[in-house]
Amino acid sequence: MSKRIVILGSGESGTGAAILAKRKGFDVFVSDKGVIKDIYKNKLQKENIEFEEGKHSYDKIFSADEIIKSPGIQEKYEVMKKVREHNIPVVGEIEFAWRYCSGKVIAITGSNGKSTCTSLTYHLLQKAGMNVAMGGNIGKSFAELIANGNHEYYVLEISNFQLDDTVTFKPYISVLLNITPDHLDSYNYQFENYVASKFRIIMNQGPGDYFFYNADDPVIEHELLKPKYHKTITSLSSVSFTLNDRSGEGGWISGDTLNIQLNQNKFNMTINELALQGKHNQYNSMAAAISGKAVGIKNENIRESLMDFQGLEHRLEFVAKVHGISFVNDSKATNVNSTWFALESQNNPVIWIVGGIDKGNDYSHITELVRKKVKAIVCLGADNTKIHEAFGKLVDILVNTESMKDCVEMAYRLGNNGDVVLLSPACASFDLFENFEDRGRQFKARVKEL
Ligand code: ADP
Repeated sequence: MSKRIVILGSGESGTGAAILAKRKGFDVFVSDKGVIKDIYKNKLQKENIEFEEGKHSYDKIFSADEIIKSPGIQEKYEVMKKVREHNIPVVGEIEFAWRYCSGKVIAITGSNGKSTCTSLTYHLLQKAGMNVAMGGNIGKSFAELIANGNHEYYVLEISNFQLDDTVTFKPYISVLLNITPDHLDSYNYQFENYVASKFRIIMNQGPGDYFFYNADDPVIEHELLKPKYHKTITSLSSVSFTLNDRSGEGGWISGDTLNIQLNQNKFNMTINELALQGKHNQYNSMAAAISGKAVGIKNENIRESLMDFQGLEHRLEFVAKVHGISFVNDSKATNVNSTWFALESQNNPVIWIVGGIDKGNDYSHITELVRKKVKAIVCLGADNTKIHEAFGKLVDILVNTESMKDCVEMAYRLGNNGDVVLLSPACASFDLFENFEDRGRQFKARVKEL
């Protein structure tokens, strides 16, 4: 009898895992307590996979030999507590897919910049003619990519939730962009648990593998000093990147030049030529370029790709200029750190749109920037108390709005020629919107109506 695999959750990950498991000959059952989206339901039906939605039938779940849990299913949910009581082995979708992967994985994690850096790295490899696929926490799930045939390289965006359920997952290259407080609500408000989760990306790496990390990030530097990482770090090629001037192996910025050196092999270009501007994107560009070097891409190809990459929607995306007022959509900024970079990169007076669901924000990190750059704040959230407390005394104008229409009209009214209206909410969007994409699209639509 074939082994029975039960998959909890049927979004991108769960459906991908189900497809891979089915194609590998397992007896597969999918259980989702919510509503399964049509696109995933169609895929399950096409593969003849048995599933349920709107409930968890425990008798069916407990008959599993192994459970694959979607990253959104938390340990505190009743179903997980029961599964643990029954001692059924549980893995995540990334771990499951890894068992069948014969290619090399470039895994990118961090609190901010994962999608940008993953897309940019993929762009480098793909333009250089390599046999590469991109997925994970962006686009297709890793499992579905593997189900559809093996590639030589996989560039994967990996979230902390995905890392939590890995066991033997061993990237050839791991990239750690930064670690700043995010998702603390899921880690009992213990920052160290979230940090430990990110560091799982290197736990199985060893000789022949690479680890690229941000040397300017105090949390990463501090964590790396811990004895538990010594053995791993010394066994693999661990190389850092920084915005400071220096030399040697890794990435750094000297004046207007971005520099890379890996295994004595050098690359440089001017930062003005980078397609993605802003300090945060210098990190993303360095990380992508070092990975490019590690897989043997020629300097001229790296340069060209860093120059012609098209930025992603909702990440500091320029929308339009209306009567001299620029509108920028940074709806993907769902935490304070990403908003820090958004504000930092502005050279004109800012009308800042902020608010939504606060995931444990500490606004003290951005008070200086707000004092310097922001002339007015338009709150867009169901509860704006914390924003009023943090910035009420710093700016002259602070108003509440509860719909995108009111918000954009208010920001426009407050603006003068030369100002920037910046939607960079530092919060999740679920109070007023479906998700950050919905928030960003509504913003763009309302701006176009002005
Ligand atoms: P993620 O996939 O980790 O959420 P994104 O690439 O979607 O990251 O970017 C999320 C937000 O963070 C955007 O507002 C973007 O402008 C900003 N950002 C991008 N790269 C970085 C970085 N390296 N450091 C800090 N913020 C960044």
